[in-house]
Amino acid sequence: HYVDIDILELIVHSRHLKKDYFNNLNRQGGLVIGVSLPNQREERWIRDRQAMEAYAKEKNITIKFESADFDVNKQVQQVENLISQGVNVLIILPLDPVTGIELVEKAHKAGIKVVDYDLLLKNSDIDAFVAFNGLRVGELQGQYLVSKVPRGNYVIMSGDPDVNFKEGAMEFIQPLVFVGNIKIVEDAVIKGWVPSIAYDVVKAALAKNNNKIDAILAPNDATAGAAIQALQEQGLAGKVAVTGQDADIEAVRRIIEGTQSMTVFKDTRELAKAAIDVAVKLADNETLVTDTTTNNGKRNVPTILIQPMLVDKSNIDKVLIDSGYLKKEDVYRGY
Ligand code: BGC
Repeated sequence: HYVDIDILELIVHSRHLKKDYFNNLNRQGGLVIGVSLPNQREERWIRDRQAMEAYAKEKNITIKFESADFDVNKQVQQVENLISQGVNVLIILPLDPVTGIELVEKAHKAGIKVVDYDLLLKNSDIDAFVAFNGLRVGELQGQYLVSKVPRGNYVIMSGDPDVNFKEGAMEFIQPLVFVGNIKIVEDAVIKGWVPSIAYDVVKAALAKNNNKIDAILAPNDATAGAAIQALQEQGLAGKVAVTGQDADIEAVRRIIEGTQSMTVFKDTRELAKAAIDVAVKLADNETLVTDTTTNNGKRNVPTILIQPMLVDKSNIDKVLIDSGYLKKEDVYRGY
């Protein structure tokens, strides 16, 4: 029996050696990081990509980038492809909880560590989690909305996949629903965060309620833009409070024009940098030391959480322009 176990251990051990060997071979040309993000439709994800590529260049790292267009099967194919290309480490935003877990397993079998980016993958073996504080994003949206519109008819929209934005927003909205000051006339999930779905939801809600809508919880700037278009068609843009998220240029311009109430700034430069720094440490087999961990149901995952910031008319220049995130000439173009 002892002999059997020894042989087994030897096999297992040699497989590890092989993995390390191939990983090191790849490393000779510098570190290669595979990145899988949801889309390149929202400005936000374009900025994440640009920030990663800029920082990687500085550090002499190669990025193999894939964009899944919110298509789960496409993500699976792309990530499997990155794994078989032998990237040294993966940064992935898992679009689906089931395929996400499978991809992490596949990566690990190939000796590739995985940084979970921006959306927590529950019950998986992810090696690190780097994200914005999603609950806080929702809290900023919800708190702002109830402060501007403490009573009235609300349209609630949430994105899918959601982080926990809706949960955060409802911490503030639900108590006022409970006492009867706020009435939720529509509660819709916007699959894939597709703006045209948000437009249809708001258009229908306006028709159903004789235009008596006072506030709209829009989960991000793209859906906010669509909601505002539906309001515009009824002459209501600027009269209904609308939230947002991401600090897209067009959204910031709507805030200046007064048709969108706020947005939430998430500095994608910081997130991208943190993810790459963590990826490098994982690839080098360094132990991660982070301020916090997240229990994802399977393990306590070393976590970096970046705080979002509320932006409205009062602090656009200070938060977005002075920090170099947006250019003044883009924001104030034509004004
Ligand atoms: C992100 C948002 C983004 C949305 C749609 C969410 O997971 O946090 O920043 O606007 O997805 O892509």
